[in-house]
Amino acid sequence: MDNKIIIMGIQGCGKGTQSAKLVEDFGLTPVGVGDMFRWLAKNNTTIGRKMKEAMARGELVDDQTVFDVVKWRLDLHDWDKGLLLDGFPRNEKQRRWLFEENNYKFDHVLYIDIPDERIVVERMLARGRADDNEAAIKVRIGEYRRETEPTLAAYEKAGLLRTVNGIGTVDEVYARILAALGWKKA
Ligand code: AMP
Repeated sequence: MDNKIIIMGIQGCGKGTQSAKLVEDFGLTPVGVGDMFRWLAKNNTTIGRKMKEAMARGELVDDQTVFDVVKWRLDLHDWDKGLLLDGFPRNEKQRRWLFEENNYKFDHVLYIDIPDERIVVERMLARGRADDNEAAIKVRIGEYRRETEPTLAAYEKAGLLRTVNGIGTVDEVYARILAALGWKKA
């Protein structure tokens, strides 16, 4: 099965909710880079201490640290039915590292598109994670527009991009996702 997916979208687009549904229905192994980083920081690991400050400000963790963690995680090869990667790559350098320098293969880049920023700010303030204060959210949105969005062009060119409108109910968006992937629930 062609089940290696990168899921993308601005924070608050519903990625987490939709990822959980894909994991549940298709047995994908979730790899959430932000979640891994939060775990590393919370448990006061050596590598976590280095990333704590950047995360609290909403800034990106430095690339080399990210590469070390992602490489370790992907090289476990612990997926059986497929992989769902969330939170990486987040900029051109990370995209090139993954696809060009390391030649990792993915089948789909699933992009949940929310054109209106006000919707995501409201959603993020409502979920109330520790790094979801308004200042950090604004930094993350700016970072996303500047760094992450421009990487979509390369996926489009490679024929990997599946864009889905993220405005609607959870079930509506999920139905669009399955259609875009060409998948059916068993
Ligand atoms: P997220 O849960 O994806 O919003 O990630 C939370 C925080 O982890 C981000 O604000 C960044 O500080 C850091 N982070 C997650 N993914 C990356 C990445 N690919 N590159 C750099 N920093 C990241």
